[in-house]
Amino acid sequence: MRWENLSAEPDDHGRTDPALFGADAVITRTFDTPEFRGITFHEVRARSILNRVPGASRMPFEWTVNPYRGCTHACVYCFARKTHSYLDLDTGLGFDSQIVVKVNAPELLRRQLGSRRWQGEHIAMGTNVDCYQRAEGRYRLMPGIIAALRDHANPFSILTKGTLILRDLDLLTDAARVTDVGISVSVGFTDTELWRTVEPGTPAPERRLDVVRTLGDHGIGCGVLMAPVIPFLSDHPAQLRATVRAIAASGATSVTPLTLHLRPGAREWFMAWLEREHPHLVRRYERLYADGAYAPKWYQRRITRQVHELAQEYGIGPARAGMPRRIREPEPAPPTAPEPTQLSLI
Ligand code: SF4
Repeated sequence: MRWENLSAEPDDHGRTDPALFGADAVITRTFDTPEFRGITFHEVRARSILNRVPGASRMPFEWTVNPYRGCTHACVYCFARKTHSYLDLDTGLGFDSQIVVKVNAPELLRRQLGSRRWQGEHIAMGTNVDCYQRAEGRYRLMPGIIAALRDHANPFSILTKGTLILRDLDLLTDAARVTDVGISVSVGFTDTELWRTVEPGTPAPERRLDVVRTLGDHGIGCGVLMAPVIPFLSDHPAQLRATVRAIAASGATSVTPLTLHLRPGAREWFMAWLEREHPHLVRRYERLYADGAYAPKWYQRRITRQVHELAQEYGIGPARAGMPRRIREPEPAPPTAPEPTQLSLI
C-alpha cells in the first residue's frame, strides 16, 4: 500500500512517532458488531487535512477536508472508487469495506485553521467520500472538525447521505450562528427497490429527507442534490415527479439534479452490477456512455429541464445546493436534543 501521503504529523508537543511513518503508520482494526462486520479500518495519522482542489477541477470550491477514504455506504456508482487504487486497495468490495480513518483529523484541522497562512476560505466536506458514513458513529471525527470550524468562524459545507449528521445538530447550529454553513443531502430517487440494490449501505431516501426536514426545523436550510439520476432506472417522468415531490415535502431549499456519470473505477463496478441486475440494459448503457464518463448533453439537459419544471411546480426555490447559508438571527434553542440517529438503516 502507498501510505506515505497519510503518514505521521508531529503531535502538539512537536514530537513525531517513528512508528507512525510508512506502512507502520497504519493500525488495522475490525469490530465484531453487526454494523461493522466484514469491515476493516486502517487508522492513520494524516500529515495534512486541508486539500486544495486542482485548479482545473469543475468543482465550485477550492478546499476540502476528507477524514475518511473508502465508504461503507457502498453505492455501486460511486465516483470515488478510483481513489482507492491510489492506496493499492481494491476499488470494488475493497472500497466498501477497507476504510482509511484519519484519526488526527480534528486536531490537525484546528492547527491548520490557526496558521497565519490560512485565509479562512470556504471548506467543502463530503465531496470525495461521505464524512457521515457508518464509521463516523464510532470514530466521531466530525464533532471536533465542526467545533474547529466554528471556533475559527470558518465557512464550510457538507454533502452527505448519512442521517448521522443529526447527531451534530447542536454543533452545526452553533457554527451557523457565526459563519456560513451549507448542508446538502444527496437523494437521487425515492424508489425503494432500486435503493436497496444500488446504494445498499445508505440510509433509506425517506430517512435522508427526514434529515432535510429536521435541519430546516432548526433553522439550517438544506438543499438536495438529486444525484444520481440513473438512466432507464430512475429517470421515468413518474419517478422524477415522485422524487421531486418528496424533496419538496421535506422543505428542501433547493434541488439540483445530476445525471449518473461513470468514470474509470466506478464504471467497471457499475457495469458488472448492471449485468447482474438488469442485463437487458447493458447495450443501452454502452450506447449512452459510448463517448466516455458522461451521458450525452441532450440527455443531461432533458433531465435538468424536467426536474427544474417539477421543482417550480412543487414550489422549491432556485437551485443553490452547496451554497453557504448562515443563520442571521439567533434561533431559540430547540426544545429537545434530537435522538442519536440510527447508524445503518439497511
Ligand atoms: S455515499 Fe457517496 S461516497 Fe459513499 S459510496 Fe455513496 S456515493 Fe460514494
